[in-house]
Amino acid sequence: MGIDRRKFLKIAAVSGGAACTALSGTAQASGPQVPADPGYGMLNDSTRCIGCKACQSACKQINTLQRESALPQDAELYDAPRSLSENTHTLIKMHRDEKSGEATFVKEQCMHCIDPACQSACLVGALIKEDTGAVTWDGGKCMGCRYCMVACPYNVPQFEWHKAIPDITKCNLCNEKRVKKGQATACATACPADAIVFGKRDELIRIARTRIAAKPEAYNPHIYGEKEVGGTNVLYLTKAKVNFASIGLPAFGYKAPPRLTEAIQHGVFKYFIPPVAIYAALGGIMYYNSRRHKVKGGQDHE
Ligand code: SF4
Repeated sequence: MGIDRRKFLKIAAVSGGAACTALSGTAQASGPQVPADPGYGMLNDSTRCIGCKACQSACKQINTLQRESALPQDAELYDAPRSLSENTHTLIKMHRDEKSGEATFVKEQCMHCIDPACQSACLVGALIKEDTGAVTWDGGKCMGCRYCMVACPYNVPQFEWHKAIPDITKCNLCNEKRVKKGQATACATACPADAIVFGKRDELIRIARTRIAAKPEAYNPHIYGEKEVGGTNVLYLTKAKVNFASIGLPAFGYKAPPRLTEAIQHGVFKYFIPPVAIYAALGGIMYYNSRRHKVKGGQDHE
């Protein structure tokens, strides 16, 4: 049976179109799903934090993390280590207001985003958004590409640079050791000032609103993390005159980073021919040419 040009174009168009539909459907379905119940999280109230670092010590203890000796030039500093590291998954940092000189202590750790950029960036599914609300890392799947480190808007994941087989390390919300057993995180349990509240995210937002309403003169009325980057399971309150950006919490938009990249991805598939469509067209050309050679060969033989 021969194949004419009209038939060939039809085959290529149909297979290309089917590939387009299948691909755009897959791209839409494969995006991370935001659960109806976002699970547990923490409310870090910087108006109550006294900077004792009990949470930092508790985190090191439960995760068996090494003590980091301060660099000689950092020996006099309160902020030592200066940032999260493979051995520091929770860090209290002091932010001093330039005009008043007043200090605000702010806890740094993974925000446990509702729609995590790290999970979206990971090619092998090594970053997992658990039902508990925790974002955890699976060492059995990780291939060490470090895309999660680039994707995280808060620079949270750390890499064990000095090890032959390095891990990605970060706060895991005490998921296995405490939360799955019905216990609060180690840091929240250790805090003597009620500056870290552990609980269901919805309940934490209610507590935050109650605290703001009870002392409007003491609080910035915004709850950081309620909407930023699509919402996070770790939320923050701060003092009335303190701007969140000045205490290390940038004014990010409310759309989750994976939703932004998804829009770009879909745009690409909408306006350009996806690779599978090109392969389908090439397959059609190869089939057409092979048929033509066979027919021509037959004619030559005759
Ligand atoms: Fe992932 Fe960074 Fe969000 Fe934590 S803060 S869940 S590491 S994107």
